[in-house]
Amino acid sequence: MGRPNQSPVLITHFSHTHPLRLTAAVDANCAACALPASPPSYSCPPCGFLLHLSCADLPTLLVHPCDPAHGLGLLPRPPYPDGAYTCDACKLQGWGFVYHCAACGLDLHTRCAVAPLTVGHPAHPQHALALTFEAPYGEGKGFSCDMCGRGGAAREWMYRCAACEFDSHLACAGAATALAYGGGDRGAAAVGASGGGGRGGLVESVAQGIAVGFVQGIIGGGGGGGGGGEMVVGEGMVL
Ligand SMILES: [Zn+2]
Ligand SMILES: [Zn+2]
Ligand SMILES: [Zn+2]
Ligand SMILES: [Zn+2]
Ligand SMILES: [Zn+2]
Ligand SMILES: [Zn+2]
Repeated sequence: MGRPNQSPVLITHFSHTHPLRLTAAVDANCAACALPASPPSYSCPPCGFLLHLSCADLPTLLVHPCDPAHGLGLLPRPPYPDGAYTCDACKLQGWGFVYHCAACGLDLHTRCAVAPLTVGHPAHPQHALALTFEAPYGEGKGFSCDMCGRGGAAREWMYRCAACEFDSHLACAGAATALAYGGGDRGAAAVGASGGGGRGGLVESVAQGIAVGFVQGIIGGGGGGGGGGEMVVGEGMVL
């Protein structure tokens, strides 16, 4: 997804003390998302430390509709003694980077935090599925995923068509692979409009108008430098 010829060869990143170099193949998992490397990546080989290009470019502050009162800060490791957290979106554990709101005790995987606000899916082609932060069936009631048939927790995020009461886990709707951070593009990254990057079930995004603006320079000095800055999920949404 990245554009290696536009990426600087050497970067500094707040999550690691040594400079990170653009490298082809390193046998390590990404420190941010814990998924295997997909070369080229940024790495510090002596430490076995690696970041995907897109993960190295994650904004350090995220404004998200799930917690509109607070910005979510990007932490390089969970703020808990056991070094793990439970993602409030997908309810799965995480060990790498986390988007965290201390006031709410909110923790999100980076991949969940940038999940598109709407997706299209061939299992429900007639309508777009909207990212929904809790099941609408009453206090403490979960949902049943219409993709896989298994249950979801009450406060678990889901993709949903309200008109048809079609509910889906994030992963079942392909959200986990529908990432489009912009791959190093400055200015704007379109989440959910990765055009052709339809692996994992997101065949075609209905949400092609969703643009996520990178507001450079609010945090980290910006000005065309490395990653960082603030990202507003859902801002500039045009349907
Ligand atoms: Zn990664
Ligand atoms: Zn190192
Ligand atoms: Zn998650
Ligand atoms: Zn909060
Ligand atoms: Zn499911
Ligand atoms: Zn529908």
